[in-house]
Amino acid sequence: MRNRNEETICAVSTPPGKGGISVIRVSGPSALKNFQKIAPSFLKQPPQSHQSKLWSLLDMQNEKVDEAVVTYFANGKSFTGEEVIEISCHGSEYITAKILDLLVESGCSVANRGEFTFRAFMNNKMDLVQAESVLSLIESQSELSAKIAMRQLDGHISKNYLKIESDLTWCLAHIEASIDFSTEGIDVVDQNVLQIKLQEIKSILEALIKSYHSGRIIKDGVKVVLVGEPNAGKSSLLNCLVQDEKAIVTPVAGTTRDVIEGATVFRGVKYTISDTAGLRSTNDVVEKIGVEKSLKEAAFADLLCFILDLEKEDWLEAFSKLNQLKNTKILVIANKLDLAPSANAESVRKKLQGLANTQKHFSVVLTSALASDTRSRVLEAIEVELGGFSYIEEATISSSRQFENASYAFEMIETTLTEFEKKTGAEFVAMYLKEALIALQKILGHTYDDQILDRVFKEFCLGK
Ligand code: GDP
Repeated sequence: MRNRNEETICAVSTPPGKGGISVIRVSGPSALKNFQKIAPSFLKQPPQSHQSKLWSLLDMQNEKVDEAVVTYFANGKSFTGEEVIEISCHGSEYITAKILDLLVESGCSVANRGEFTFRAFMNNKMDLVQAESVLSLIESQSELSAKIAMRQLDGHISKNYLKIESDLTWCLAHIEASIDFSTEGIDVVDQNVLQIKLQEIKSILEALIKSYHSGRIIKDGVKVVLVGEPNAGKSSLLNCLVQDEKAIVTPVAGTTRDVIEGATVFRGVKYTISDTAGLRSTNDVVEKIGVEKSLKEAAFADLLCFILDLEKEDWLEAFSKLNQLKNTKILVIANKLDLAPSANAESVRKKLQGLANTQKHFSVVLTSALASDTRSRVLEAIEVELGGFSYIEEATISSSRQFENASYAFEMIETTLTEFEKKTGAEFVAMYLKEALIALQKILGHTYDDQILDRVFKEFCLGK
């Protein structure tokens, strides 16, 4: 059976549908040879790597199928590390499919999801952290998420992991040597030196782990859920924040019964905002389901915005429902300031705290959904509540896979240091350190574990 890596693969790299152009990628040892069968004149002038030329593409009956810009990348000089042809043809679904068919007839195989990036990884063009960043970059929906992915692709995070991997290897090698030479009374390395090195590794890991909180939010977007009593102005605020008429606004309480979602980008970060049914006790079956849905939606929020009507003071029922949600941050938005201009944020906060008898910390922002500066004031308050995104670490991680492994490595290094303190045998210390090293190697893809590779590459689309 032929090794898959010896096959030449092809796929459409642009999204399906009509467009000005479509890009088809071909990668593998026979990329040029196979392509020459549909562009017979291509090899007459030997192509130079990274050069593009306009070529006629012919079918097997020598009938012209399209004229396309073709870029050739020599073996070792492409994204995948293999010989690559990139065909920019006219963006008709028929022409794109026809060229792909012709390439398959010429001997190419259709690529699997993420197979181009997988080949780049297998050919040492990038490590697993960088491969993951390719997917993040494709999926990025805001300036900051693209920036984080780009830094990751440039190797800023890998540099940290590689240093940790190399230092851990050094520590482990010395501890194992000290086990081997223990009977001969040779001191291979001073224990203090090892402890200092491990503390250094611990702090690099700690910074990476800490960066995941904002990294994850920036990558996936901030999920904000608007909850509160009926008629407080939730739908009006949603429309104001996303600058669109997403939700129906009426003076009739109980209009919003399902969760309505909108999205907006503010200072480079994407915010997904959900408007929910007003929280009140009701006998209406549909509204009741709506209230249950509101609470469910609220449980997944990065931040809950509790909207209250400053004109009324019957906030307790809705607010106490929120208090059941233990792990979510709350920002109180006291709305309809235009109707209660003398309102004061601190007194609203104290009143709510007294009513609900809660120790939970929350801030209060006063707004009117009808005022022109409300959008920026509310989004700024949300940003502050989440810790701010104005400064992002050079190495910010956004992948749960990296976070899990880095956290495990951190835990193992902490245990190693405790074992040192307790003066347990070097064998134990080596065992924990090895666990930390394996976790690090999993992050970088330095251990060829099929499950890890599956987890990373199965999320890719075709043609990447
Ligand atoms: P929801 O039930 O919480 O979604 O509330 P809506 O957004 O549907 O608003 C209920 C009513 O309050 C509508 O008539 C809105 O026009 C009005 N409203 C919302 N926000 C404000 C505000 O800040 N000031 C004033 N005066 N009216 C508001």
